[in-house]
Amino acid sequence: MSVLIVGSTALDSIKTPKAENPRLLGGSASHAAIAASFFAPVNLVGVVGEDFPKRYLKLFQKHKVDLTGLQIAPGKTFHWSGEYEVNMNNRRTLATELGVFETFTPHLPAAYQTTPFVLLANIAPALQGHVLDQIRKPKFVVADTMDLWLNIALPDLLKLLKRVDGFVLNDSEARQLTKEDNVMAALKKIHRLGPKYVIIKKGEHGAILSQSNGGMFVAPAFPLHRVVDPTGAGDSFVGGMMGYLSTASGKVDDNLRKAMIYGSVVASFCCEGFGLKFTSRITRAAIDARFKELAALTRF
Ligand code: AMP
Repeated sequence: MSVLIVGSTALDSIKTPKAENPRLLGGSASHAAIAASFFAPVNLVGVVGEDFPKRYLKLFQKHKVDLTGLQIAPGKTFHWSGEYEVNMNNRRTLATELGVFETFTPHLPAAYQTTPFVLLANIAPALQGHVLDQIRKPKFVVADTMDLWLNIALPDLLKLLKRVDGFVLNDSEARQLTKEDNVMAALKKIHRLGPKYVIIKKGEHGAILSQSNGGMFVAPAFPLHRVVDPTGAGDSFVGGMMGYLSTASGKVDDNLRKAMIYGSVVASFCCEGFGLKFTSRITRAAIDARFKELAALTRF
């Protein structure tokens, strides 16, 4: 089965204490699509400008990401730049230039409208909802978000949460959304907003899954010796998770834990290089080998 992914397709300029890399392939949908592509065919929905480098289109094609749903519009590609502190966790956004995103309306090609697994990666919640309007009978829909939408588009996000199966956010976003410092209290409140599955990402400390039936799971992050650039790790996590889920037979409930471990593994590769440089060079065999290592670390 395939995965439909909508989100930002961007050029990222990233600064860390050790290096600076301008105009890398980035964006929530780009990271998630490459991550998911190691498991399943991916249908990508997004927009880029005429300045989008051909080599990045080729990179998607090399990973068999279907680009029928990627619009190439007159104007500039969405550009984001950010800077990390020495601890490589705290990040400051330096600039966000919307470019062609300003006037973007996602149109789903007919062949995408029955995609069973849908990932609404980080993008304005109204656009995520617009994609959902065009999908027929999806099997599993997950939405991601960011603090910006909690600040400027909360009503749209709350509307969307009533329509999705799963919601993925990081711990600071969960605190902002619920005004709760305690993660269990936050999870309880988020379930009341609609999603049956809530995943709170905690960066290098892994991710927590909560199900509205009371089920819980904690997925560790893969311990890395060196983090080069964590940009897109969250998107890689959810992309890898959805990619695995779409290929696993049986119920989502039975596969979600393993899917989260796969998500953690792909996210770890993402952190080892700038932008998509490292992730785009790995193989499914490398993912499976690290999956075994991570699983062994959690056995007692
Ligand atoms: P993450 O590190 O998982 O938070 O994701 C970083 C990615 O989010 C980068 O590749 C950015 O291009 C993308 N991004 C940053 N700001 C926005 C925004 N306002 N809307 C959509 N994507 C964004």
